[in-house]
Amino acid sequence: MARQAGWRDRFWWAMAWAGSLASLAACAPPLGQAAAAQVPLSFLAPPLVPTTPVPPTPSRTTATALPTPPAATPTVDDGHPIVIGTSVAGRPLQVFRFGSGERELLIVAGIHGGYEWNTIALADELMTRLRQDAGLIPSDVTLYILRSLNPDGEARSRDYYGRANENGVDLNRNWPVNWHPDWERTYCWHYLPITAGPHPLSEPEAAAAMQFILDHDFEGLISYHSAALGIFPGGSPPDTASARLAEAVAAVSAYRYPGLNYGCEYTGQFADWSASQGIPAIDVELTTHETTDFEINLRVLETFLRWRP
Ligand SMILES: [Zn+2]
Repeated sequence: MARQAGWRDRFWWAMAWAGSLASLAACAPPLGQAAAAQVPLSFLAPPLVPTTPVPPTPSRTTATALPTPPAATPTVDDGHPIVIGTSVAGRPLQVFRFGSGERELLIVAGIHGGYEWNTIALADELMTRLRQDAGLIPSDVTLYILRSLNPDGEARSRDYYGRANENGVDLNRNWPVNWHPDWERTYCWHYLPITAGPHPLSEPEAAAAMQFILDHDFEGLISYHSAALGIFPGGSPPDTASARLAEAVAAVSAYRYPGLNYGCEYTGQFADWSASQGIPAIDVELTTHETTDFEINLRVLETFLRWRP
């Protein structure tokens, strides 16, 4: 911890120095050599799987023993998360499960932490609605919601400083597809130094999410970001099924599709990795960094729950 604390001091000092630059902007990633040089030695041989093993899913027996909200249709949500791993700083990565059908779908929020805190707020609002109206979930669907993939960034701040994980890594640059240690920052998010990690899946948050996804058979995935660029299907060029999911969501949301392209070079992206695994995936960008666009995303949810690859 002492070695890491020393690195963190230098990292956050660099963050503070670079922080004099910016003002609000959209979601896209950042500064290479200097930031890369600050990668802690512990990155060189990190575990590829979270130290906390993926727990077995709660049994129905357990679920029925706990208080459950009134439900129009059977639901496996008992108000308690499945913990799929822990963050660098030890915070739990929590997944909530709704419905009990055979078709599995996944929503992920907060990959960019507190900088995109409104995506986490949206996940919480959607879960509140799902608990109030279990009939929203079709009988053949089980929906999983990973409400905060970067809880350390979420806890740190609601501005630029909340984007990276505790190791200064952009978790949306850490996936094992088209991964690069650095990228051209000019047209990407570059307000603070941030890295892709020393190698794909170096970060426990990405590794835990990947294992969770591989342990399931997801038919679709939405990863929420903010703000304002639109809808981005996984794959480069876009995967066909992901593009169809993007079109379906665009039709009910008025979010821009195709999304705006500022010429940013995207590397090691979560949605691209999902598409590479045969899971249709889209990034959905909320309109601002402040609002959840709840009514829009309730329509997105209803569409997603009935969408088929
Ligand atoms: Zn983002």
